[in-house]
Amino acid sequence: MAHDPSLSALIAHPDFARIRSSKLKGDIAALVVDASGIGPDERNALETRVRQAAMAIEGVREVRVALTSSRPERKIVAIGSGKGGVGKSTVAANLAVALARMGKRVGMIDADIYGPSQPTLLGAHQRPLVEKQHLIPVAGAGGVRLLSIGQLVPPGQALAWRGPMASGALAQLIDGEWGDTEILLVDLPPGTGDVQLSLAQKARPDGAVIVSTPQDLALIDATRAIDLFGKTGTPVLGLIENMAGYSCPHCGEVSDPFGSGGAEASAAALGIAFLGRLPLSSSLREASDAGTPPAANEGPAADAFADLARRVLDQLETIAR
Ligand code: ADP
Repeated sequence: MAHDPSLSALIAHPDFARIRSSKLKGDIAALVVDASGIGPDERNALETRVRQAAMAIEGVREVRVALTSSRPERKIVAIGSGKGGVGKSTVAANLAVALARMGKRVGMIDADIYGPSQPTLLGAHQRPLVEKQHLIPVAGAGGVRLLSIGQLVPPGQALAWRGPMASGALAQLIDGEWGDTEILLVDLPPGTGDVQLSLAQKARPDGAVIVSTPQDLALIDATRAIDLFGKTGTPVLGLIENMAGYSCPHCGEVSDPFGSGGAEASAAALGIAFLGRLPLSSSLREASDAGTPPAANEGPAADAFADLARRVLDQLETIAR
């Protein structure tokens, strides 16, 4: 950080911590100001304050302010579920790949301490390198950047973690070198207990997506997940119904042995958006579990995930308004 001695009066200014460098050339002051983590209105206010402070210094006739941001505008989306086994991680991995195919720079934080499966799902098992005390995400399927609790501890060990340890590890993952990542998905552990609550608070998501199966019980659990995000003040972007109906491995036709429309009706009753449904499909399971998420290829599954990804982005825009 270089500061021009003739602009030393700025040191006393309350915003000095954000002034990364200052230079006086002739009577023009050039300031680089860090505007990380603040909204557009505050950015303008910060710029005005700094500009006025510099203008007040003797010998300055013009001020040029360059606002920088160490963290680019990035949306964080948590993926939660009321209980385990509903396909939350599988959906999250494919959604990430679908977003990447739409041209977004996508990251994934796997915070599922009960079963960190993203390294398998995204085919990214390498241990992340550390640079300047930040973990560097590992590139997986579709170029999705991944940091997972599963990359840091041997399988099975994360399970024994209590809330504070899990939340410490999550902080390290969030603090990773995410660079220009535009959208960061956080695969939360299933359930709605204290661990989930503290992790959801820590991740400070812009929105949450809930994955549920059509069974009534799972939907009741989904309602609890919605309550969980309510407690953390996180807007729920919507519900994804997974394993809804059965996709025939031979002809691809989807049938509904248990009926359909339950999740849609529940979402409507709960006042949240219904983002779409995915059938029970053995090819989706096999490809995902093999680290080749079908969202990366052509086909009905890829189309379904592309639709979901578009709706998630739409919802993010809607809540930002
Ligand atoms: P969760 O994260 O909710 O615990 P997972 O994503 O680990 O669930 O999924 C549990 C199992 O269900 C995995 O073997 C996965 O491949 C399978 N699965 C997920 N979604 C589907 C689906 N739509 N059709 C078939 N199998 C699925």
